[in-house]
Amino acid sequence: MKIAFIGLGNMGAPMASNLVKAGHDVTVFDLVESAMQALEGEGARRAESAEAAAKGAEVVISMLPAGVHVKGLYLGRDGAPGLLDALEAHASNTRPLIIDASTISPEDVRTVAAAARERGFTWLDAPVSGGVGGAKAGTLTFIVGGEAAGFEQAKPVLEAMGKNIFHAGDSGAGQVAKICNNMLLGILMSGTAEALALGVKNGMDPAVLSEIMKQSSGGNWALNVYNPWPGVMEGSAAGRDYQGGFLTDLMAKDLGLAWELALGSRATVPMGSQARNLFALHSSQGNGQLDFSSIQKLYRAGE
Ligand code: NAD
Repeated sequence: MKIAFIGLGNMGAPMASNLVKAGHDVTVFDLVESAMQALEGEGARRAESAEAAAKGAEVVISMLPAGVHVKGLYLGRDGAPGLLDALEAHASNTRPLIIDASTISPEDVRTVAAAARERGFTWLDAPVSGGVGGAKAGTLTFIVGGEAAGFEQAKPVLEAMGKNIFHAGDSGAGQVAKICNNMLLGILMSGTAEALALGVKNGMDPAVLSEIMKQSSGGNWALNVYNPWPGVMEGSAAGRDYQGGFLTDLMAKDLGLAWELALGSRATVPMGSQARNLFALHSSQGNGQLDFSSIQKLYRAGE
């Protein structure tokens, strides 16, 4: 298929790469030149703008940091037209399916999806879980919101990048599920870091303690695949000074989305609020661009 891929960051680059490997004709665009060069080296074409990448595409996929970027891309910003207008102007009889895999608020999804619908496009929210490791391995979980017909159309494309593809419900439902998941992830990563720091302060070897908790009732995803203590797990972000991965600022953003969702639905999220404050504090101490498992450092201050 002819696919446009916009946003080649920690996640987007390996996702686009897997689409190329699956034999798709992929045209990429990112604001960062070197990100496009890397994909070009893997067999993708590069475009000078998002509009140019999307022209003639059967599927448009975006993977951007936050709602402000997604709305800016599709709806336009500072008076400039967005990609939806540009696509409408180019569109002949067939219109590309649009899939946004960024994690943004359900409200932003509904705004953009409604604008797309008005112009005759199907716009799906398809946030992912599985991290950079999952993006590289092509084993991401996609959590899709939008019409069932659009979901069926998207599935074969998503299967080139992921293993588990869920239809969560209507527009925005993908984000609701993703936000719940990431709130839980923020809580369990900070809880895991807290438990490890307590054990080490009391003489435990972090690797031994991790193994014990992994096989006990405290076992969780962070202990299994994303241990936050440096040197415990080969290949983890902790082992490379927390470079790359899922940034603290993005986790703080997702916990903010959970907080907004709770406010709007009058739900109480005391643990999520605690985690939001921890990651916000950690970010304010200069760790926003480190992987989120660096929350471990917050518990090691003064060592
Ligand atoms: P990132 O910051 O590494 O990458 C974002 C990319 O988007 C950058 O390369 C940036 O230059 C590009 N960009 C921004 N605005 C653009 C525009 N208008 N046009 C073209 N390119 C633009 O972020 P990431 O880690 O790849 O995450 C992307 C999304 O996926 C976020 O919403 C994040 O919350 C979510 N997510 C990340 C992970 C993870 O482990 N990193 C896991 C699951 C979900």
